[in-house]
Amino acid sequence: MNPNTQYKAGFVTLVGRPNVGKSTLLNKLVGEKIAIISPRPQTTRNIIRGVVTFEEAQIVFVDTPGLMHIDKAPTPVDRKILEETIKGLEGVDVVVVIVEPKIPGPEDEFIFSHLKKIRKPTILALNKIDRIKKEEIDNYMGEYEKLFTFNKSIPISAKKGTNLSILTGEIIGYLPDHPPYYSSDLITDQPERILVAELIREKVFQLTRQEVPYSVLVKVHEFKERSRDLTYISATIYAEHSSQKGILIGKKGSMIKKIGELARKEIENRLGCRVYLDLNIGVKKGWRKNIDSLKDIGFEIR
Ligand code: GDP
Ligand code: MG
Repeated sequence: MNPNTQYKAGFVTLVGRPNVGKSTLLNKLVGEKIAIISPRPQTTRNIIRGVVTFEEAQIVFVDTPGLMHIDKAPTPVDRKILEETIKGLEGVDVVVVIVEPKIPGPEDEFIFSHLKKIRKPTILALNKIDRIKKEEIDNYMGEYEKLFTFNKSIPISAKKGTNLSILTGEIIGYLPDHPPYYSSDLITDQPERILVAELIREKVFQLTRQEVPYSVLVKVHEFKERSRDLTYISATIYAEHSSQKGILIGKKGSMIKKIGELARKEIENRLGCRVYLDLNIGVKKGWRKNIDSLKDIGFEIR
């Protein structure tokens, strides 16, 4: 990296109707890799979907669910969700609106009317241009540009990878000067394990509150599909001090049982299959002092 250039980093959300190609684009840019530890600086409401790290910049993609799931005329509930989503967008630096080569309808107009309230740099990506003739591109872009003043419009094909580096280049152009939020060795391609660990950790906090503060770490040892409908997961909750071990186990094992039950239900919901959760308690003194101990306790850091 040129020492004279400032590193740029920030949060970016992909907005668009179902089927326009948001997931395809994210997978193309990010792959399966997600961040292990969420520092959650300003984006507590948003889920981190992926991180793309360049030599001079880092793009953190976050989900803003409310704007992603409108596939029909919005109901009053949709409107409420959208209001919440708009608030969640305050921590986002750049919005990328993805559309496909179709004439915009009332749903698009609805999304744009909300985007007008968010004064963030907004880029239009006309996706799936592999499906249309070159001459048609400007026409479609023009239709969307009538509805909103974009900072930039870019025709792309997420599937073929066309113009994606132009898109990321434009995004980076709108990111603030900021050091990277994630070091590249804290990015993993094992999202399920991380998700499971996070869900267990969440239950520990919910159930133990003050007694066991943020000093637990969860390691998922095994994650095996026993059959199409049953996944076996073994995990250990590591406390930092042995005094916390007793609290985590509880009277006659009541606490670990409760943590396990709640976590299992939540994991089953997320994974969409039955789960056998084998949960244990351990102690790793002082793990928080050393980032390397993340590796020791099993995060597959690349
Ligand atoms: P999402 O609902 O916005 O996340 O959309 P998906 O990423 O799931 O894509 C919906 C469909 O569009 C899938 O069948 C993709 O394969 C297809 N698709 C996505 N991007 C492109 C593209 O650039 N070109 C073409 N031809 N199809 C695409
Ligand atoms: Mg999707």
